[in-house]
Amino acid sequence: MPDSQFTNRLLDVAVPTPLRKTFQYLPTEACANLKPGCRIRVPFGQQKLVGILVGFSETPTVDQSKLRSIIEIIDQEPVLSAALLRLCIWASNYYHHPIGDVLVNALPVSLRKGVPAHNPQQELTITRMGNTVDLDKLGRAPKQLALLQLVRQSALGKDEIRDRNFQPHIISALLKKKFVTWQRRDPEPQSLHQVIRSYNQISPSHRQNRAIELIKSPGTYLLHGITGSGKTEVYLRAIERVLNDNKQALVLVPEIGLTPQALTRFTDRFAVEIEVVHSGLTPKERLTAWQNAANGTARIIIGTRSAVFTPLPNPGLLVVDEEHDGSFKQQDGFRYSARDLAVMRGQLEKIPVVLGSATPALESLHNCKLGKYKLITLPERTAGAKKESYRLLNMRNRELQGGISTELIKQIRAELGQGNQVLVFINRRGFAPVLYCPDCHWIAKCSRCDARLTYHLEQRSLICHHCGTHTSIFDNCRQCQSFQLLPLGMGTERVEETLSSIFPTVPVYRIDRDTTRRKGALADVVHKVGTGKPAILVGTQMLAKGHHFPDVTLVAMLDIDAGFFSSDYKAMERSGQLILQVGGRAGREAKQGKVILQTHLADQPMLQQLIKEGYSVFADTILAERKLNGLPPFSFHCLFRAESPQKHTAMQFLEDVSREPLSNPSVEMLGPIAPVMEKRAGRFRAQLLFSSRSRILLHQSVDEKIKAAQLSRLLNRVRWSVDVDPADLA
Ligand code: ADP
Ligand code: ZN
Ligand code: ZN
Repeated sequence: MPDSQFTNRLLDVAVPTPLRKTFQYLPTEACANLKPGCRIRVPFGQQKLVGILVGFSETPTVDQSKLRSIIEIIDQEPVLSAALLRLCIWASNYYHHPIGDVLVNALPVSLRKGVPAHNPQQELTITRMGNTVDLDKLGRAPKQLALLQLVRQSALGKDEIRDRNFQPHIISALLKKKFVTWQRRDPEPQSLHQVIRSYNQISPSHRQNRAIELIKSPGTYLLHGITGSGKTEVYLRAIERVLNDNKQALVLVPEIGLTPQALTRFTDRFAVEIEVVHSGLTPKERLTAWQNAANGTARIIIGTRSAVFTPLPNPGLLVVDEEHDGSFKQQDGFRYSARDLAVMRGQLEKIPVVLGSATPALESLHNCKLGKYKLITLPERTAGAKKESYRLLNMRNRELQGGISTELIKQIRAELGQGNQVLVFINRRGFAPVLYCPDCHWIAKCSRCDARLTYHLEQRSLICHHCGTHTSIFDNCRQCQSFQLLPLGMGTERVEETLSSIFPTVPVYRIDRDTTRRKGALADVVHKVGTGKPAILVGTQMLAKGHHFPDVTLVAMLDIDAGFFSSDYKAMERSGQLILQVGGRAGREAKQGKVILQTHLADQPMLQQLIKEGYSVFADTILAERKLNGLPPFSFHCLFRAESPQKHTAMQFLEDVSREPLSNPSVEMLGPIAPVMEKRAGRFRAQLLFSSRSRILLHQSVDEKIKAAQLSRLLNRVRWSVDVDPADLA
């Protein structure tokens, strides 16, 4: 009977293609009990691809005769749990990204290629014959005898045998005689009795206890606590509870926050298995971490952005630390926000989600006001430490030395004199951002971008910070041959040079992407600074995350003005966050910390408000302004970006897309326009912005315009993307 139950259920399969839909396949008999979330190999055009079953359908959407059968089933058990699969389908709709590519992003590379999801460890085990055989019989094969005796005592894994230097032919000989056999080793049962290694003499404060108590039940919590207020301690206690309930916890951290120092907090506290997931893992390491999470061996998973897709058979808690951080948003391909997906995942799994920050994103604070998140605050530093104090140093009419005011130098000297350390922040690497010819006004520019080249003294190069182009330094002007070329402005290298010459006896350590490229370089500096001797640290925002410098008492910020007059509506929010994050490095332990901001904008009201009244008041002011202007989070944005090596093509493509008015006139369509940097890495860019107070209407309009884009005659001549909730409009 051909028309049995399974044959009239078609398989809806997501395959890794740029097409925004699933594909129907005919099932085979083996598909009778197949569950969504399993991988299947399917024919696709001339290719064979690994797809994922997302569901079933009854009626074909194409001509029945065109439907093809699957090639093989790869998994018996789903590689994506029901909750993760739902999360991915939701994300595909929300971010308007092809479902096949979303699912591919959710799996480690090896699984995308179709390797087995789990390869249980095999171990060499003794057989009944092996147990009873007379050992004298092996007298003339001493190696075989030795191995047999070991296996009689306990089964051995492949690695253990290799470590003891037994050659494969020894094993084969014993296998052939049927004295031993390979058997599957099951994951070690977890020792439930020991979760805590050490509390390190910390007992939570009253406020911390209240926070820990609150985040017991499912929901999203915004933990707003100043730097050093004990947020991490709250995470640790909440995780402890989850572990005692025999569940797992997933902790997301910003890309550069995943420092050995930060990890130590977890490994010192907990005796359970912890997996760390980040972009630096090899495919094999990544698969192992995935497997250990999926089989429940790993109880805590700490990872960056993509770790939000880690399988958790027993989920208990999700934490997003530094939730405001930009690195949670993926900026190419599948442009998702890991923080927002974590919140959605928490809802689907029905578990608590904690978003923590000293400077929460405005949209998160807004969600608290709407009642979607519960706000928990920790307004004070923990016992012993005082909050840092802020001071604006007006640069107007001040004497400067290499861009640093003499008043600031005096303060630095005083601090060093008391045996303390000083951190000097400047958010630009290299020596100077501009190389300028005073004779003809020529400026060194990138040939591939609308951008200036940064002068790097150490590498003797001019480097484009947007596309990475390197050019060797030259001595004379490219336009008038003058030898008077001047580096203008300052970067970390110049500040390092200036401070080294002013303080020749004090070590100056520079921390930026250039000095930390070598593996272990950053750890070396952190170690040297850790001795507590007077020192100056010069660095970019790499300094602001994850590192703990207990002897830094003064933080000096040299160039924070740009964000206060930028045209980007998010720049002000980001500057405020950065100032408090970097400033929070000052005086984390017994010593009172000071922060000095060198600025031309000492009267700027927002800057004043930030340092006098604190982040919450500052955030409220910006929110009020955004409300007035109908900007996010009071409206929602979606940005179409296009680029092409030919000038005008990207713009014409988006003109095609925007030609027809939207069917819903309440959704605004702005552009297309060229971004401030029109040309980047040899491509000309254009963008089209959609904005609406209603998410639903916005998404409908975006769908409409994606269809229009797919019909454009220029579709094949551009690279284009859809960015929902874009991090910036540049
Ligand atoms: P945050 O994550 O908010 O920056 P941490 O959790 O790192 O703050 O806490 C700052 C410092 O205070 C750490 O050294 C931590 O060990 C310590 N600490 C946290 N909570 C307490 C507490 N209740 N009692 C004493 N020390 C604490
Ligand atoms: Zn460039
Ligand atoms: Zn010149």
